[in-house]
Amino acid sequence: MSLNVSALRDAFPILHQEANGKPLVYLDNAATTQKPRAVIDAIRDYYQGTNSNVHRGAHYLSDRATADFEAARDTVAAFLNADREEIIWTKGTTEGINLVAQCIGRERLKAGDEVLITTLEHHANIVPWQQACLATGASLKVVPLREDGGVDTEAFHRLLNERTRIVALSHVSNSLGSVTPVAELIAAARAVGAITLVDGAQAVSHFPVDVRALDCDFYAFSGHKLFGPTGIGALYGRRELLEAMPPYQTGGEMIEVVTFEKSTWNQLPYKFEPGTPNIAGVVGLGAAIRWLQGQDRDALAHHEQALLSAAHEQAEAFPGLKIIGNAATKVGVLSFLLDGAHPADVGVLLDKQGVAVRTGHHCCMPLMDSLGIPGTVRASFSIYNTLDEVDVLFQALHKIRSFL
Ligand code: PMP
Repeated sequence: MSLNVSALRDAFPILHQEANGKPLVYLDNAATTQKPRAVIDAIRDYYQGTNSNVHRGAHYLSDRATADFEAARDTVAAFLNADREEIIWTKGTTEGINLVAQCIGRERLKAGDEVLITTLEHHANIVPWQQACLATGASLKVVPLREDGGVDTEAFHRLLNERTRIVALSHVSNSLGSVTPVAELIAAARAVGAITLVDGAQAVSHFPVDVRALDCDFYAFSGHKLFGPTGIGALYGRRELLEAMPPYQTGGEMIEVVTFEKSTWNQLPYKFEPGTPNIAGVVGLGAAIRWLQGQDRDALAHHEQALLSAAHEQAEAFPGLKIIGNAATKVGVLSFLLDGAHPADVGVLLDKQGVAVRTGHHCCMPLMDSLGIPGTVRASFSIYNTLDEVDVLFQALHKIRSFL
């Protein structure tokens, strides 16, 4: 199960450069991952050889673009263990959650109903539900965290009740890396008749996801956090629910028949895909997933865990460093604070040494409020990071500490 990280890094051209005169150490993978050559080539090849509008069936190029576009849908469906009609192209996780909140949230919620989320949600899995609650008179309930930054599952079971209509959970926290045991929570949610949505933005690049095994109703993710392009993502929806839902946006492509009096909707998944889609993005995302599936995913996961353990070990030994979020099950993220230093300052000083991290609230203001901190420094790891880079991060932090 050993991984040739150097060969893997060669697949990512962007990594081989300097930042501020130092070798680039890219530890901002939770914000976005880098793209392998296979993805860059697929997008270039699409524009150089295939570019055309899809589903018009008018000519050779359009047929080829359509075939590539729909093949990518098959790739995503297989990746999540779904049917192709259940995969809707979106701009990303944010749009997927908004689609569900608007199309089913507002339809199903009424005054007295409850939507259950957790304290560690990204704003993308808070604000759409807050708006749906405002529009319908339902209320938003929030599951607290344990001390270690994992979701308090006992509190979840206490808060879940027959008024809970929707349960929306992050699979993995972008701020802390904690993995939520979503399968167990989904089973409980389904037992009270609630609809379930999983925000998979931070999960899909770290471990395989099977929506049938999870038994969730919706699963949203973004291409750019999965080695694919920005501006493209996918939403899995359980077929019966998608069939019953009204469209999200209307216009061309999503219709069956239009008259000035009324319109009828296209079959799934096209009912939810109005207008010309991000074809190059879809092709790039398909290429990213095919590339990932060509790797030994167990070896990748093993390598990522080795990076995280090494980072934790050094963090625990670092004077004045406080790890934020130390759940037993976590992936990809080391969030921390340095005594006496604002996270933003630490980020700037790391950048000067070539180390890219993210600082601040990471789009999780309520989580930071609950922890009583303004934000964290977040180093987030991916498959192409090395143990040497973990060392560089801590050498840089030692330097920072010496002149703070
Ligand atoms: N949820 C989580 C857990 C995320 O990490 C992110 C991206 N930071 C999002 C949702 C939103 O994803 P996007 O910006 O790609 O729509």
